Amino acid sequence: MDCIFCKIISNELPSYKIYEDDYTIAILDINPINPGHVLVLPKVHYGKLSEIDEMEAIPIFRTLKRIEKVVAESGCTGTNILQNNGRDAGQEIGHVHFHIIPRFKNDSFRMKYHKVNLTNEMLEYSKKYYISKLK
Ligand code: AMP
Ligand code: ZN
Repeated sequence: MDCIFCKIISNELPSYKIYEDDYTIAILDINPINPGHVLVLPKVHYGKLSEIDEMEAIPIFRTLKRIEKVVAESGCTGTNILQNNGRDAGQEIGHVHFHIIPRFKNDSFRMKYHKVNLTNEMLEYSKKYYISKLK
């Protein structure tokens, strides 16, 4: 499979690796939003979040939480965890990964959107839909 992140995990490609355990690695993003931007990846190739085996989600979250703490204490004033699923959501690399982005007052990172106004009926419709799917 031609996956950049799989090649980084198998050391076929170089990376700025900062952490590794049996299930995950963490590397510096080479084109960061801010200095210190980290990517956490499961070692197994999954395309999107929904594909991750539930038991493997636990070690991924452990790595994420552990590294976020280190990033948060590195001199920034906040962090964002970002995870993109699908091209329309901004996913460029098809191996699921979590961004840990250090944030600073007045930095350049923006999530721009217009919020929509929904009627109670529309909210009720979404609520019923999700509850039925989560049963
Ligand atoms: P996404 O848009 O969520 O798929 O994020 C992909 C991220 O991977 C981007 O922020 C890129 O800057 C980063 N990236 C691409 N190639 C590499 C690489 N070889 N090593 C580290 N980060 C990379
Ligand atoms: Zn991969």
